[in-house]
This record gives sequence, C-alpha cells and structure tokens, in this order.
Amino acid sequence: MTGLPSRYNLIAQVEKHIGRNQASPHDAPFVFVFFDLDRFKNINDALGHRIGDEFLAALCSRLQASFKENQIFARFGGDEFILFLPDVADLDEASDLCLRALDLMREPAAVAGYSLSCGASFGVARYPDHGTTIDELIQAADTAMYHIKSLGAGGCAVFDASMNEERFSQLELEQELRQSLAQGDFVAFFQPIVDLATGVLVGVEALARWRHSRLGWLDPSAFLALAEQAGLVPDIDALVQKSALRSVARWRELGYDLVASINCSSAQIERPDFLQVIESLCQETTFPLQCLQIELTEQALVRQIERAAVSIQALRAKGVRVAIDDFGMGYSSLSYLRQFPVDVLKIDQTFIQEIQTESDAKAGVSLADAIIAMAKGLGLSVVAEGVERPAQLAYLCQQSCDQAQGYLFGEPCDEKEMLSVLAQGGYKDIIDLTTSKRRSGS
Ligand code: C2E
Ligand code: MG
Ligand code: MG
Repeated sequence: MTGLPSRYNLIAQVEKHIGRNQASPHDAPFVFVFFDLDRFKNINDALGHRIGDEFLAALCSRLQASFKENQIFARFGGDEFILFLPDVADLDEASDLCLRALDLMREPAAVAGYSLSCGASFGVARYPDHGTTIDELIQAADTAMYHIKSLGAGGCAVFDASMNEERFSQLELEQELRQSLAQGDFVAFFQPIVDLATGVLVGVEALARWRHSRLGWLDPSAFLALAEQAGLVPDIDALVQKSALRSVARWRELGYDLVASINCSSAQIERPDFLQVIESLCQETTFPLQCLQIELTEQALVRQIERAAVSIQALRAKGVRVAIDDFGMGYSSLSYLRQFPVDVLKIDQTFIQEIQTESDAKAGVSLADAIIAMAKGLGLSVVAEGVERPAQLAYLCQQSCDQAQGYLFGEPCDEKEMLSVLAQGGYKDIIDLTTSKRRSGS
C-alpha cells in the first residue's frame, strides 16, 4: 500500500551491511532509526481505515522523496517505520534529518476533502555503540522512541542506556493505566470558580484524578503525557467528564446554579463527531447544554482550527460556552480569535503569579492587565487561574476581572468535599476583606 520495502527486506539489507562491515578492517558506524506516528489511531478511528491508509500512503511518498537513494525507508508495521542510514555516522546529523522529516509530516496533506497532518516520534540508535546486531539496534532505537513519546510532544531522541530502566517503569504504569480505565478509576475533582463582583460560587472546573491502587490520588502531571502516548486520553476524558456532569447535575437539582467547566483534549476536539459526543454526554447525565463550558487550550485550537471549528460553533449555537484555557501560553498569533469566536479567556496562572505583593499589584503593568483589557475589548468574559494571594485577588477586583479560581478560594477536591464547600455559600467575605484592606491601605 505504501510502496515501501517491508521490515524483512530492510532487516536483510542491514544484516548484509553489518556482515560486510565486520569483514572489513574497521567497523564503520551507521545510524538506525525507529519512528512511529503520533495520534495516527485517532485519524483511523475518526475517519475510517480507508482515509487512514490514503493519508499514510501520501505521507510515505512525501518522506520517501526526501531521503537519498542509499538511505532505506521501510514500514515496520502499522504506523511504525524504520530508516537505515548507512551513510550517516554523526548523531547530530541523524537528529537533524529526523527533525526535517518531522517538519514534512506536519505539513497538512489533502485527503478525501480533509486536511490531515501528523506528528511523529523518532528514536535513533548507532551501530556499533548502541547495538551490534539488528535486534539490538531495533531494541535501542525503539527504546529511544519510547522515551521521546513519553515526553508527549513528538520529536527525536538518541538512545542512552538510562532509558532502559525508565522504559520499564513507564510500561508498568501504562499497564496500570489501562487496567484503571477498565475499572473506572478516573474521576473528576472540582475547583470552585468565583464571580469577583459578587463572591458567588458560579461554577466548578472538573479536573482529572487517577485513583491509583498503590500511589493514591494522582494528578494529570503524573499520567497525561503517558496517556497521550498510549492514545488513551479520550477514554480518560470520557470517564472524567461523565463523572463530573453527573455530580454537577445532582448539585443543580439541590438548587445550586452552577456552570460545569470541562477540559477537552485535542484528541477529543479533532473527532468529527465531537458535537454528538458532547450532546450524548449531556443527555446521559441529564446535564443542560446551556450550563456547560468546554475548555480548550490555545495549542489544541490552533492545531485543529479547521476541523474543530464546525462542531465547536455548533455547540456554541446550542448554548455551550467555549473557553480558551491557559491563555497567553500558546505561541500562536491572536488572529485566530477573529476566525474562531469564543466566550471566555482563562488567563494562565503564570501571569497571576507575577503579582506577588501589593506594590506589584499597584504598579498595574503586568501582562494580566493587557489580557483583561483585550478580553473586555473583544466582549469576552475573563477568568484568572491560580489565584493564591490576597494581593492577587485585590488586583483582579480592581481590574474588573470577571471570575477567578485558585487555592485562595479552594484547592481541587472530591465530590463529597465539594458539596460541603457549596453549602458554605460563596466567598463574599474573602473578597470584601481583601478589597477593603486594600482601600484602607492605599
Ligand atoms: P488547567 O485546566 O489549566 O487546570 C488548572 C490547574 O491548576 C489544575 O492542575 C489545578 O489543580 C491547578 N491549580 C488550581 N489553582 C491553583 C493555584 O492557586 N495555584 C497553583 N499553583 N495551581 C493551581 P491539575 O489538576 O494538575 O491539572 C493540570 C492540567 O491537566 C489542567 O490544567 C488541564 O489542562 C489538564 N487536565 C485536567 N483534567 C483534565 C481532563 O479531564 N481532561 C484533559 N484532557 N485534560 C485535563
Ligand atoms: Mg482547565
Ligand atoms: Mg489553565
């Protein structure tokens, strides 16, 4: 299908090369690369195998054309590939070559009316220092690839012996992750979102937590990159979102008028049936669409803008609010805001943490200022994340920031604890105290 040599073909050639090499007076080094596509499974799942295959063929012919004649590019199986570079001995040169190939893969290809692109993770091994047989080389390159995948963003890594141990514990964690997913051991924790004008608790953000049998509660920094690499993020999203909306629906029945804010991964928003997924989630949990807010990161949006636009605008038309999470941390141009209407900007917590003292706050020159002003100018609502100090709260009130969340109001907590937080009835006291202290101090 791809027109590439098979793994057997390539293995035979490498073995022949190694044999010749060992027969000659010096064992000339060469490079062996293992790589696989990031999130290719999503394309297959979402658009079907036929489109997946077509995309793969387009990608391979583009890559094939970029390699020299004596460099062999072969398909190992599925979305895994190998590269045999008999003419490359320098590891930097090999990494550059892989990164150039990655750039090529990230350029969108037009397939069946879709514009598709894909990332990849490359592992590089060198004969003879990382292995002297084909099996050892495959093992080393695969381990390096596994290492770069576990970091989550694609790219290229050169094998290093310390990666063996790391791989073992990652594999173990991945097994446990799959098992926990099957048992439903992922749930939502909740963090209050507070209206700054009134102190009312107006919403909660649902944050994924893993109830790990040995390690206790784990937060996303412990498992999200691994889950992404294993293609399991959509499964986690589904469990967490369902658990979140069930709880918030119950609280709404008790009379708490709350918006539920859920985090959506890029894997989730790139699904063509994203609209239906969210609609059936709300149906199943009897949660009103008009009280739902979805949080998308800037990076995910910019990457998926064309594919995501239709379903996300359809959700907005049904009353779902769309928030850009971690706003200001992306490297994108702001013009996407025009192309892609949203409702809420969530200022990334790093900008709030810049404000440490009353005098920082009075100086009023932080980037948070600029983001609040911009949001107001665009008619968007603005939420500050990571509010920990009274000085930060006072500053945000003074700048008329709409809403805030952070440890000052409450850390993410489980369903039971959240219910008692709700019963306490808002945060007017904290806000009054902070703003009146500031007024009397200034
Ligand atoms: P986020 O959506 O920006 O969530 C805010 C993060 O900041 C949370 O980390 C929260 O615990 C933390 N935080 C809240 N208040 C404070 C504060 O005052 N100070 C500091 N230093 N941190 C604060 P968490 O729960 O570890 O989540 C990390 C990220 O993982 C989230 O960032 C979100 O991007 C992602 N995530 C969480 N749950 C899910 C999920 O269900 N699905 C997906 N796809 N991603 C999720
Ligand atoms: Mg969020
Ligand atoms: Mg955030």
